[in-house]
Amino acid sequence: MSDTQTDLDQLLQDRPWLAPVPDHLQQAYRNKRLEEFSRLVRLWSPMLPIGFIAFQAFTLVFYTAELHGRDLALMLKSEGLDISLLTGGLVAAHQVRWRLSFDRWIPWVFGLITAVKVVTGFMLHSQVLAINQVYITLMVLVIGMLGLQLPIRSAIRGCVLGGVPFLALPWISDIHYGLLFLGHYLLTATVAVFVVAVREDKDRMMFLQSMRFQQERQEVQRLNAELAEMARKDALTGLANRRVFDEALRAEWDRARRNRASLALLMIDVDHFKRFNDRYGHPAGDRCLAEVASAIAGVVRRPGDVAARYGGEEFVILLPDTDAGGACELARRVIEQVDAAGMAHEDSPTAANVTVSVGVSHCLPTGAATAQGLTDAADGALYEAKSSGRHRFVCRELRAADGG
Ligand code: GH3
Ligand code: MG
Ligand code: MG
Repeated sequence: MSDTQTDLDQLLQDRPWLAPVPDHLQQAYRNKRLEEFSRLVRLWSPMLPIGFIAFQAFTLVFYTAELHGRDLALMLKSEGLDISLLTGGLVAAHQVRWRLSFDRWIPWVFGLITAVKVVTGFMLHSQVLAINQVYITLMVLVIGMLGLQLPIRSAIRGCVLGGVPFLALPWISDIHYGLLFLGHYLLTATVAVFVVAVREDKDRMMFLQSMRFQQERQEVQRLNAELAEMARKDALTGLANRRVFDEALRAEWDRARRNRASLALLMIDVDHFKRFNDRYGHPAGDRCLAEVASAIAGVVRRPGDVAARYGGEEFVILLPDTDAGGACELARRVIEQVDAAGMAHEDSPTAANVTVSVGVSHCLPTGAATAQGLTDAADGALYEAKSSGRHRFVCRELRAADGG
């Protein structure tokens, strides 16, 4: 398990309040927030202007008697300013460049809109209108804080900015009204910040859990790929295993039959290997097999060729689209490469070094010929190579008439 996974596990287990997002996940977290904000913008874009107009209509209908003279002019100016700020904010939110830093400038827009409302509340003459202004300000505060789903710091910044006009309290003529306004503002802002914090806490936890889930999924995928690879490889030599060879033989046989192409097979067996084991021990025997395998792998170059460990000290090479000449040339090179490895075998009656014998079979898969027939023919050729002195290759052609 990597360090980053352990960190994440620890965080998820401890579940601290407002769990800090680890450094390496900061960008991903930011991207997620940005994505959520973009979705919100799409949702809010039509709703905000409609809501704003509804508010104005409400004020107009219920406060017709109060709206005249200086208060009416003030309200018109204040609403005009806020509509401009809101429109500016919406336009900016639709620009990708601005959207990227939404958590920096949104608190300013939101704070300014709120501040304009507070200042207006202080300046209205009509008490009824002023009280209405308090409600509207609190409403804007709640909608902005909860609706925009700002990160906690941005939310606090917006509230503080919106509350700046309260610094003018000592100069307000109706101090009772001013304090009442401030009290409501502080209470509402505190509750709203608390709700934002609870939401952010849950949000971070869900993000961390989803990241952990993603890591686990990647780990499972990696392990699956590793397992699949292991299931196809021979552990000792690193060559393909018998299962891969059997599959390849079936597939290549069918392909060669369809394409009327020739197919060749080399069966390679280490000479006097039992004596090697007896003399040098089993672990040395294993190393010898790995060395022979690497000599074989070095000879096989075409992508379609399949070199595999057939079992024990026997190896095979399947050669699609290869005739007798090509297969015999490869057999010669395998023998040469194993010789070149120069592994001492003092108990071998054949040579001073480890040697191999190779049985080669080839055919044009037609008529009654079968893949098993090709294997048997290679095995027969190998037997012949062994009995005629070892350290050589023998080539046999499987004819359609041979069946097998
Ligand atoms: P020949 O020249 O006729 O092929 O003689 P040989 O001794 O090579 O053949 P034989 O079949 O009598 O012996 C094969 C030996 O290979 C016996 C077995 O212990 C050894 N062997 C098979 N698999 C492994 C392996 O994975 N590691 C080791 N070290 N030895 C193995
Ligand atoms: Mg053998
Ligand atoms: Mg052998």
